[in-house]
Amino acid sequence: MKVAIVTGASRGIGRACAIRLAEDGYTVVINYSRSAEEADKVLEQIKAGGGDGMTYCCDVSDLAAVKQMIRDVDKTYGQIDLLVNNAGIVRDNFLLALNMEDLDRCMDLNVKGYFYCAQQAALKMFRRRQGVIINMSSVSGELALAGQSVYSATKGAVNSMTRVLAKELGAKGIRVNAVAPGFIETEMINALSDEKKEEYLKTVPLHRFGKAEEVAAVVSRLASDEFSYITGQVITMDGGISL
Ligand code: NAP
Repeated sequence: MKVAIVTGASRGIGRACAIRLAEDGYTVVINYSRSAEEADKVLEQIKAGGGDGMTYCCDVSDLAAVKQMIRDVDKTYGQIDLLVNNAGIVRDNFLLALNMEDLDRCMDLNVKGYFYCAQQAALKMFRRRQGVIINMSSVSGELALAGQSVYSATKGAVNSMTRVLAKELGAKGIRVNAVAPGFIETEMINALSDEKKEEYLKTVPLHRFGKAEEVAAVVSRLASDEFSYITGQVITMDGGISL
């Protein structure tokens, strides 16, 4: 048995990762912070496909709650093999109109939350000298899109943290990589105006938005033993935007 925790798995990319990892044979912890019904549906779908797991409500920007989640998962299953740090938010605005509450919220969830989960999961992975951490970054970690200074800064931090943690944890048998998607069809993208979507689409050489399942496929391969010599990498999958 292998156990994976996917944060922010009640919908979007996290949901697709949870379902794919269950198909790969993982017992999956579907983390969410508010959308209990959606998380339950993800678990139902996993069970209908012959998989197993549980839902777990926890705001990953709350360190005490993260500690409790990791303790509970470890107690229930006795091991944590894979952490997919995925829960993230976007709060776009130009600097001069920047709302500092949005700044704090993005930093708390997209950066501090990733550190909290990585540290607590790594403490358990240390014991067995094995584990994989995959951080959901974004092309915005490298690309400069006007209005995205805060989101870009958080994803740039995720890329840096990925490389440094890979160095720190490699000798303990823990691999750390990141996936940097471009525009993926989820609520995050659906919330954009048609005008904005059309503008973004023009920048994509493949001329379509990506699918959450395509991101999940990259996460699945990166987590697998076949990719056991890859660590510290940020894998971009963006239909060619950043070329
Ligand atoms: P999404 O559809 O908005 O889903 C976000 C998920 O995160 C939901 O399951 C949500 O559940 C959960 N969540 C939000 N706040 C949370 C918290 N404090 N604690 C725990 N869970 C929380 O987002 P998405 O588009 O799938 O994006 C997922 C990740 O991919 C993010 O890190 C994002 O930056 C990255 N990404 C997305 C795109 C894209 O085009 N969509 C592109 C590049 C990178 P609740 O409702 O229960 O809170």
